[in-house]
Amino acid sequence: MARTVEGRNGLTRGPGWRATEDDRNMTAAAFDNFPLSPRRLARLEGWGMAVESLSYLYRPRTVEEIHDVFETARRHGVAVAFRGGGRSYGDASLNQDGIVLDLTGMDRILSWDAETGIVETEPGVTIEKLWKSTIADGWWPPVVSGTMFTTMAGCAAMNIHGKNNFQAGTFGRHVLEFDLLTPKGEHLTCSPDSNAELYRSAIGGFGMLGCFTRLKLQLKKVHSGRLMVEAFRTRSMEEMTNEVLERVPDSDYLVGWIDCIAGGRNSGRGVVHQAKYLDEGVDPHPEDTLRVSAQELPSKLFGVFPKSLMWWPLSFFVNDLGMRMVNAAKFHSGALQPEGHRYTQSHAGFAFLLDYVPNWKWSYRPGGLIQYQSFVPKDRASAVFGQLLRTSRDAGMPSYLGVLKRHLPDGFLMTHAVDGFSLALDFRVTESRRRQLWDLCHRMDRIVLDNGGRFYFAKDATLQKEAVERFFPEETLETFTALKARCDPENLLQTNLSRRLFGDRFGG
Ligand SMILES: Cc1cc2nc3c(=O)[nH]c(=O)nc-3n(C[C@H](O)[C@H](O)[C@H](O)COP(=O)(O)OP(=O)(O)OC[C@H]3O[C@@H](n4cnc5c(N)ncnc54)[C@H](O)[C@@H]3O)c2cc1C
Repeated sequence: MARTVEGRNGLTRGPGWRATEDDRNMTAAAFDNFPLSPRRLARLEGWGMAVESLSYLYRPRTVEEIHDVFETARRHGVAVAFRGGGRSYGDASLNQDGIVLDLTGMDRILSWDAETGIVETEPGVTIEKLWKSTIADGWWPPVVSGTMFTTMAGCAAMNIHGKNNFQAGTFGRHVLEFDLLTPKGEHLTCSPDSNAELYRSAIGGFGMLGCFTRLKLQLKKVHSGRLMVEAFRTRSMEEMTNEVLERVPDSDYLVGWIDCIAGGRNSGRGVVHQAKYLDEGVDPHPEDTLRVSAQELPSKLFGVFPKSLMWWPLSFFVNDLGMRMVNAAKFHSGALQPEGHRYTQSHAGFAFLLDYVPNWKWSYRPGGLIQYQSFVPKDRASAVFGQLLRTSRDAGMPSYLGVLKRHLPDGFLMTHAVDGFSLALDFRVTESRRRQLWDLCHRMDRIVLDNGGRFYFAKDATLQKEAVERFFPEETLETFTALKARCDPENLLQTNLSRRLFGDRFGG
């Protein structure tokens, strides 16, 4: 049975624990008994920099090397976690005191068919590498995250959603087949028709059932490198959800930005961006717009200021007053364009807005940020989200960025989706208010759960085990636990998140 952190070195670790120098020395000392090289010790962070852990880092290049690491872990009784691009906001790819398998070295595109749009990749291929390899042939990844630095396996393990969830479903819908190496030693090919239960459970299974070693995906045909975009302002959360619902039939992508700081009659105001693919023949020069160079995000702001340095001036605005100004400016700048104004934008420009300023998260240093994303049925969403905004403002910790999306249920076992909306809220973490922020999240959890809502592990750092037991039906948890026992009987696969949210459900 793989050992877990607690009880081994006696450290007390509450929610959002951060390792100190002493912790690191103690952890290293605790590992003296193990023949795993201390040279492998690495401090890894969740993407939001608010949670971290110390682990033994391995970078396999082949399936055999992954297999060997499973054996090493088994021999020494330590747990193993997988890590792709490390873009999950919280502790989903952290594993305190255990092994972290960084799969980014397995990043080959194994096959590409420009006629059918079917691609086979190793697990560590990023969305960036994928679109850059296929767009000139007129194919775009059907579902992408707001950053292009996530990997195929990370996207499958979390079953990510895009701004087109209401239309394209989640990432998993487009995975035709994958190979999964289980700790038990099986290397299984899974598809909707073969090992179907494993297929619908490993997708979204947050790395608990085995390692994706190959993924086969169907991409989306596009006839231009540009999208037709329209932006419009909405004055309340209710107006936003209604507008989004109304526009769904005429949209390929829809995303709402919300000013979470404005209160009173401005509460919930925001801007919605709607985008559509261009039909064949509309773009007179697709061969130009589909070039990678026509998609690249500019490296300088206003053609002068290097974007790589932008995080630094941004950091002066990452406080309540600065963000109040930024949010108000963003909302009012929408008025500069006439309602119904349309423009075209590249796929990468529209999809990866958050990559425009490299390392923008550094402006949240030293404490980092967490994202709180809840999914709420559509008839209750605007009221619940309004309540979340008020609750966070009243607690003196307003969110600095709020993003709304429309979702539909999917058929995957550990699904986070509902027929409704999600609201993703970014919160700054500071040492002095860390505990209050975690308490605030737990208060908001209760509001969401009382209204039939769900949560998403890729974004989570604060949820508690009881919450997971409320939003997943017991039958679902039992099915997943039974499958885990089949694929990973010794509970070798663990992460900080799995221990936090599932405790000893998967084994001690
Ligand atoms: C700026 C930003 C924007 C984002 N926007 C969105 C968005 O729009 N929609 C959305 O859904 N998510 C979004 N995310 C979250 C992100 O898409 C997910 O967290 C995704 O899982 C990250 O992929 P990764 O490769 O970085 O995986 P990691 O974060 O490294 O790992 C994620 C999970 O995958 C598991 N895993 C990794 N490799 C394997 C493997 N080979 N086999 C089995 N399991 C494996 C890990 O153990 C972990 O549980 C965003 C994140 C950021 C930072």
